[in-house]
Amino acid sequence: MHSKILWPKRPQLFTGLRLSSSSSATHHGLLLHASAGKESPLAVLPTRSLIYSVLFTSVISSPLLRPCLGLLKYVIESKSSLLHPSRNPAMRSVLRMTIYNHFCAGENEAEVRRSVTKMKALGFKGVILGYARESIARMNDVKHPATAVNTKQDVLDRAVDEWKEGNLRTLKMIGKGDYLSVKFTGAGPTAVEALTRGDHAPPPRVQIAITEICAAAAAQGSRLWIDAEQQIFQSAIDNWTIDLMRQFNSKGTAVIFNTIQAYLKSSTENVSRHLRLAQTEGWTLGIKLVRGAYIAHDYRSRIHDTKYETDRNYNHIVQSLLTRQSPAGDSPAPHMFPDVCLFVATHNAESVRKAYSLSRYRTQNKLPTIPIELGQLQGMADEVSCELLARNRSSEVAAEHNSGEAAVPGVFKCLAWGSLEECLHFLLRRAIENQSAMERTRHTAVALRKEAWRRWKSRSM
Ligand SMILES: Cc1cc2nc3c(=O)[nH]c(=O)nc-3n(C[C@H](O)[C@H](O)[C@H](O)COP(=O)(O)OP(=O)(O)OC[C@H]3O[C@@H](n4cnc5c(N)ncnc54)[C@H](O)[C@@H]3O)c2cc1C
Repeated sequence: MHSKILWPKRPQLFTGLRLSSSSSATHHGLLLHASAGKESPLAVLPTRSLIYSVLFTSVISSPLLRPCLGLLKYVIESKSSLLHPSRNPAMRSVLRMTIYNHFCAGENEAEVRRSVTKMKALGFKGVILGYARESIARMNDVKHPATAVNTKQDVLDRAVDEWKEGNLRTLKMIGKGDYLSVKFTGAGPTAVEALTRGDHAPPPRVQIAITEICAAAAAQGSRLWIDAEQQIFQSAIDNWTIDLMRQFNSKGTAVIFNTIQAYLKSSTENVSRHLRLAQTEGWTLGIKLVRGAYIAHDYRSRIHDTKYETDRNYNHIVQSLLTRQSPAGDSPAPHMFPDVCLFVATHNAESVRKAYSLSRYRTQNKLPTIPIELGQLQGMADEVSCELLARNRSSEVAAEHNSGEAAVPGVFKCLAWGSLEECLHFLLRRAIENQSAMERTRHTAVALRKEAWRRWKSRSM
């Protein structure tokens, strides 16, 4: 099944950071060059960001990662007035100027807007923004029932309301075409319990909240993706999100995207199920494709046995969708294929390269395909993001000579915002969840160090 569709032969693409300066040669209808000049695509990064990136990726990809995560956890959880950032202004500014600024967008609307503007100035089409705070209902807030206004239900309702307000606030910080990133478990225990039971619809308060968030996103021309989480929640998340797609995605426009985790053995069939529903019910399918972040904490037997199989499955799903076929092989007639928008969310250079090349190949050759966008997390895989930006710049130059050519795939950065404490907790959780993937950031570290060395040499010449 996996060998049915062939990639266009494009071994020359993305062979490294120093790419051919030829801007006109073509092969199989695709442009050969990856950037307009001989400069590394990382040349667009401001020197300060580059230095921090070199520092962090070197630590992340080294054996120092585990002790550093341990140290960060110790500092964040410490009650000591010497260590905790809320009590020690020096510790606060060190963490703020280093980890926070590298991985987070800002503590308030003004700071976030500045970060978003900077990203767009670098060439990113847009951002995906998420609020780092995850609602936690604090049951000690429940006072004695006889005397208190606060009942357990009030506390649970407040968690849902805070989640809604946080998402609506986040939405105000982004613009047309940007994405809001939403996690259903962020709505607190009411949502978590319903997800765990596998309820077909969200509890009423969560339903009202998410509908309001989606409607606000649609009204301002933004999009919204629902994050994939652990498998215990996932079938309910799929059903709730499909229902939102029914309401908000039509006429080729996807406002809502569901996340599919390609490491799950069932993901191929799950994509096909989404396709069948979208086709028979007549709505537009939005898919964000990830590999999956919970391998260390989830039913291992449901996850592909090897990294190789996950990689192959990820690329197979991308390739199937871009060629308008069902990944499970049960494709409808091509004219019956539903409208689909795909977001390729990965740091894997090989997957990015294949998705981008195939999309450009089919667009340039006017072959049937679907729109795609690609994105990475802030502070991660900058060489992959910058490479895409460089390719888009050179493709846009080529498109000027070839009027009428469809737009290049949009490149996005996924940002988190929140207070220093909120973001540090969020980053620590994500770092622990993604530890194995983080350790593989060696390629990024090497590319960044090369670029830093190039700048240092050109200064001293
Ligand atoms: C923009 C963005 C949004 C994201 N949103 C989500 C989300 O909503 N939900 C979510 O779960 N994750 C999400 N992730 C994280 C994602 O699932 C991956 O954990 C992370 O991106 C690393 O995978 P990769 O595709 O970048 O590439 P790589 O680093 O090449 O792949 C690492 C991944 O391969 C898989 N893997 C590793 N070892 C094995 C093995 N032995 N057997 C089988 N599979 C293996 C795991 O999924 C691992 O995370 C997101 C990532 C990005 C970039």
